Amino acid sequence: MNKFNPAFIVRENIKKLSPYQAKEIPCKIKLDANESPFPVKLSDFISEVNIPLNRYPDPEALKLRKALAKKMKISYTNIMIGNGSDELIYYLILTFGGPVLYPIPTFAMYGIIAQSVGVKKFESKLDSDFDINEEEMINLIKTEKPRLIFISSPNNPTGNTFSTDKILKIIDTARKNPSIVVIDEAYQPFCSDRGFLPFLKDFDNLAILRTLSKIGLAGLRVGYLIGNENLLSEANKVRLPYNVDVLTQYIATAALSKFYAQIKNFITEIVKERIRLQKELSKIKGVTVFPSEANFILFKVKNSQNVYTKLIKSGILIRDMSSTIKNALRVTVGTKEENKEFLKVLNNILGG
Ligand SMILES: *Cc1c(COP(=O)(O)O)cnc(C)c1O
Repeated sequence: MNKFNPAFIVRENIKKLSPYQAKEIPCKIKLDANESPFPVKLSDFISEVNIPLNRYPDPEALKLRKALAKKMKISYTNIMIGNGSDELIYYLILTFGGPVLYPIPTFAMYGIIAQSVGVKKFESKLDSDFDINEEEMINLIKTEKPRLIFISSPNNPTGNTFSTDKILKIIDTARKNPSIVVIDEAYQPFCSDRGFLPFLKDFDNLAILRTLSKIGLAGLRVGYLIGNENLLSEANKVRLPYNVDVLTQYIATAALSKFYAQIKNFITEIVKERIRLQKELSKIKGVTVFPSEANFILFKVKNSQNVYTKLIKSGILIRDMSSTIKNALRVTVGTKEENKEFLKVLNNILGG
């Protein structure tokens, strides 16, 4: 296999750009960055924690990257942190440009960001099983020459994973193009198969997106991109120097050590509840449930608008997906009690 060179497909204005240099040189008196010298520490507000708020966060987010690397048994040099994975999607499109290709229905941000950046986008409809239309995707790769292909697996809002074989064929075709395939694994922690981390060593045009948002830390805004160093260093050029703040870095790093067992327990509980919710939903007359490997379930009813509004009247807010999939609703898996209440109300609405 010949060497894949991401620099080849970087936009002209990015090729000439150098990443912001912010080396941390330890000095006793630090007067170089227009910071306040008066210590403001988080420990002034929260006991135990000692973070100097008058200083900028580590621009490299080293501790957090190392903590993540340890969990995934990879090198921290293969990880880039974003202010949520949204920011990383933005960086990728800003760096490699368009056209951008993705199957639909899917996560809205690929299209929104492509449009904001001003690049062309191509959308390929999923088949009736919500799997990838392989032939169409391959054709679009060959004819439209996308620079980036986004594949959310498990997919939001459908909840299923796509066929691994189809994705591997897409990555292989994309490599010759050349284009980068980004597998968005936001829901991987809830998924029964192992995802695409094991394939990273086989494909240097493959990158994987993950996030802490769906496993309990959405407020922190931590997403991470996993890929080879050449690819990351191109995207790193457009990264804003302090895109992940000091509290986020601290709390996320701590969460991956001290609270990791708790996070894992929560994930296990959500998966258990998802399976139960799926089973219970399928028992309700007039409900069509789709299989899910995520922390939400897509289902169809006869009059989704009506059901959606009635649920709100009973104090339950779910997501109306009917504008993208006819009569479809998406419910996030909640606590046992929340799910119970949801099922009860839905049953009443549908006259069960
Ligand atoms: C929720 C979601 C994200 C957003 O992740 P953040 O890290 O919160 O920005 C990314 N991709 C998919 C498919 C999602 O559903």
